[in-house]
Amino acid sequence: MRFQDTGKIAEDFYIIGHPGVPVYLLDGPKPALFDAGFTALAKQYEKGIKESLGGRAPAYLFLTHSHFDHVGSAAYFKKVWPELQIVGSEKCRDILTRPGALQLINELNRIGIENMQSADIHPIHEDPIDHIDVEVVIVPDQTIELGPSLFVTALATPGHTWDFMSYWIPEVKILIASEAAGCDDGTGVIQTEFLIDYDVYVDSLKRLADLNAQILCPGHKIVLTGSDVRTYMAASLESARDYLDMVEAFLTEEKGDLKKVIQRVKAVEWDPKPWPKQPEQAYLLNSKERVEKIWERMQKKSSN
Ligand SMILES: [Zn+2]
Repeated sequence: MRFQDTGKIAEDFYIIGHPGVPVYLLDGPKPALFDAGFTALAKQYEKGIKESLGGRAPAYLFLTHSHFDHVGSAAYFKKVWPELQIVGSEKCRDILTRPGALQLINELNRIGIENMQSADIHPIHEDPIDHIDVEVVIVPDQTIELGPSLFVTALATPGHTWDFMSYWIPEVKILIASEAAGCDDGTGVIQTEFLIDYDVYVDSLKRLADLNAQILCPGHKIVLTGSDVRTYMAASLESARDYLDMVEAFLTEEKGDLKKVIQRVKAVEWDPKPWPKQPEQAYLLNSKERVEKIWERMQKKSSN
């Protein structure tokens, strides 16, 4: 199935807040949250988590990576539930201690807030972030116990970012892959999400596909279950290959003029999409990274 709403997906597993920028909740002896969405949606997440957990507090917040739409409400959650432990990779922790990173998160947040206002989404939590403390550094393949026979395993799956951790709960076959699995825009079109290295991203994608998850959470807009997981992973791999072919062709035609190529890619990918979609500034930042990485890859190949 393809879930595009908030609510209960399976026994003890919930999509909270907003389907476009969700927080995932796995209930159990030690309830766990996965990612912290937007700052602006903090109150919606809090409400959904409290409704699902009653009076209990979540024990862990697992962060996949340090992007603004995945860590936004972490500090807010910590205020609501002081016993909550924030878990992330070492690189994720380090990035979030940099003032420049927090500044960028707050800038992108502002744009997110404006989009929410124009989409008439309420209430909006407008406080900027001053710090996000990753308290538990998790290393690749480390497991954290959530209860008897319920463990979360961290999988280093770089490609979208270097700090990326996917989370795998083998007992219930739930995979929180976020953008390591690409990003369906809700229509079945999968945006290829590598930012730092195409080949590393594809390797991570293949590793995640081999897990044969029953529930796949790609981070935005959609959650897949059953046979749709396999279909999605295959489509995501194909989309990565198609993206590479398209950008290589544009780079060849435009003789390496990156600005022109980014505009051509945007005209294909971003312009035709209806709102709500990734803000233009965030899309352009990411697109620039992808096009530059493919250009470097082409240079390397031709010099070999
Ligand atoms: Zn991201």
